[in-house]
Amino acid sequence: MKTLALLALAPLVLLSGCSAFTDDTVGLDNGVQVAAAFYPLQYVADRVAGDHAEVQNLTAPGGEPHDLELTPRETADVAQDDLVVYERGFQPAVDDAVDENAEGAVLDVTDVVALVPFKEHGVDSDEDDPHFWQDPLLLADVGDAVAKSLAKVDPTHADDYTANAQDLRADLEGLDREYATGLQGCERDTIVVSHDAFGYLQRYGVTMDAILGLSPDSEATPADLARLQRVIRDEGVTTVFSETLASPETADSLARDMGVRSKVLDPIEGLSDETSGEDYLSLMRRNLASLEEANGC
Ligand SMILES: [Zn+2]
Repeated sequence: MKTLALLALAPLVLLSGCSAFTDDTVGLDNGVQVAAAFYPLQYVADRVAGDHAEVQNLTAPGGEPHDLELTPRETADVAQDDLVVYERGFQPAVDDAVDENAEGAVLDVTDVVALVPFKEHGVDSDEDDPHFWQDPLLLADVGDAVAKSLAKVDPTHADDYTANAQDLRADLEGLDREYATGLQGCERDTIVVSHDAFGYLQRYGVTMDAILGLSPDSEATPADLARLQRVIRDEGVTTVFSETLASPETADSLARDMGVRSKVLDPIEGLSDETSGEDYLSLMRRNLASLEEANGC
């Protein structure tokens, strides 16, 4: 164990030793290295960086970001990044890696986005709701902040970063208009979902009721399921939504028991094998179509 830790630290020491000499040439030598903690942040960083930086996702595709664990090597690798974009409080392993190892710039998106308390999204928790990327306008704010951070790391390309963030914002504002228009005048406003990732849709009049709280890996209690059965009956809910990175079993059986449909609504916490050809925008549009159909909009 000791040997391993030493091995992991060795490149770190070397790097910090020579970083003083390479600061000026960053972006010319090996290119700017950006680490994004999970998919929506990777999408934003990719769009803003364009060709000028290499963006790595700390959460491997198919992985659930809530439960991310990093190997000692991955934790130490954070030291080599020029910029780390992460959301403090969402993935404790990334918080620790940043605290222990980050030597470059760090951007905590909770400094940019004012997270809404879970309670305001109808969830019994004292924590803030981390799933802000369901609101495209909040993600656009993150894009602007990434552009500012990259401009500091790599001033040569500052104008490109700003322009890329503006393009991204235009796309996200367009998506926001599609949501606002598409979810107007729906027959129902309640959605039953797998885990509580959709609270930020409240801005479009959609109210979420989740089978699972906080993490896709928690377990539903019989009392939760009984309450949801009442909600489905009382609100005339047509669809129980499952998701891509967690087992659809509970959602499917709840739908079967109640004689309603079961369909995927993607929390877009990460891409999976089935969604590897998609991106944030296409998945958000797919979700919108499913929401409109389920709620009669
Ligand atoms: Zn989540």
